[in-house]
Amino acid sequence: MYTIKSYMFPQSLEAAYELLSRDPKNNVILGGCCWLKMGRRRLRTAIDLTQLGLDRIEVRDGWVEIGACATLRQMETAPELAGRFGGLLSRCVAHIVGVQFRNCATVGGSVYSRFGFSDVTAALLALDATVVLYRQGEIPLADFMAMPIHFDDILVKVRVRDDGRTAAYESLRRSTTDLPLLAVGVSRLDDEWIVSVGARPASARRSAEAAACLAAGGTPEEAGEAAARELTFGTDLRAGADYRREMTKVLVRRAAEACGKGGEQA
Ligand SMILES: Cc1cc2nc3c(=O)[nH]c(=O)nc-3n(C[C@H](O)[C@H](O)[C@H](O)COP(=O)(O)OP(=O)(O)OC[C@H]3O[C@@H](n4cnc5c(N)ncnc54)[C@H](O)[C@@H]3O)c2cc1C
Repeated sequence: MYTIKSYMFPQSLEAAYELLSRDPKNNVILGGCCWLKMGRRRLRTAIDLTQLGLDRIEVRDGWVEIGACATLRQMETAPELAGRFGGLLSRCVAHIVGVQFRNCATVGGSVYSRFGFSDVTAALLALDATVVLYRQGEIPLADFMAMPIHFDDILVKVRVRDDGRTAAYESLRRSTTDLPLLAVGVSRLDDEWIVSVGARPASARRSAEAAACLAAGGTPEEAGEAAARELTFGTDLRAGADYRREMTKVLVRRAAEACGKGGEQA
């Protein structure tokens, strides 16, 4: 649990960032607090973004935009998402704890934290998403995932090009609502493919070799083998590296098939 000395509702992103930048170690942006409350911290200033209208999921100017304060439950139920990308963004959160939890946990807290186990980043990476940060501007999620994590900026929204891409998501868990021990997203736009693998247990990364294999006419099995060869895997209490590598072959194959490669169109 945490304690808070001062709780602030800034009325603009500029004011929120000004508060954060005064002392990024002790002044903290709040998401749904589901993760924050697992630790023991003394927060000097808690910065609540809920009065800034960042909880919307919208489609405009050829982009799907998900505000940082949108909850995982909004992601799961938004009609704008259910009907796009093979329902990937709705499906990827369906096994995260339970509905009450998903009503609290936010997209901002999930993406900014770049958890290794994240279903959300593994799925978004497969859609070539970008993140809009207050200070650093808009950058590809793939680049953001590779950057060191400093809690000194504000994630404003996530954007995905509304390009008609089809996609599929597969995760593997020891029990239904546990953290995933592997999370795979695959998307396809004509002959262009993206394959992402998360919970390795390190955070999600794309497999360029698996994507190239599919684009060149390779089979889903060959793509799975390419991803297993290219990416690194580790061991934790949920699974060993060898098991994760073997199951990557299976999940990439299934997701590629679901995107219409040697199987049914998603
Ligand atoms: C028990 C448990 C089980 C979980 N299981 C899963 C799972 O199976 N799959 C999965 O994908 N995830 C899982 N998660 C992670 C969860 O889905 C959220 O990603 C996590 O709780 C963080 O979201 P939050 O809104 O609660 O963020 P908070 O706890 O409020 O914040 C987390 C961190 O992010 C920062 N932050 C929050 N919002 C922003 C922002 N807009 N800009 C910059 N920084 C920000 C905060 O300052 C803080 O440092 C689990 C979490 C818990 C506690």
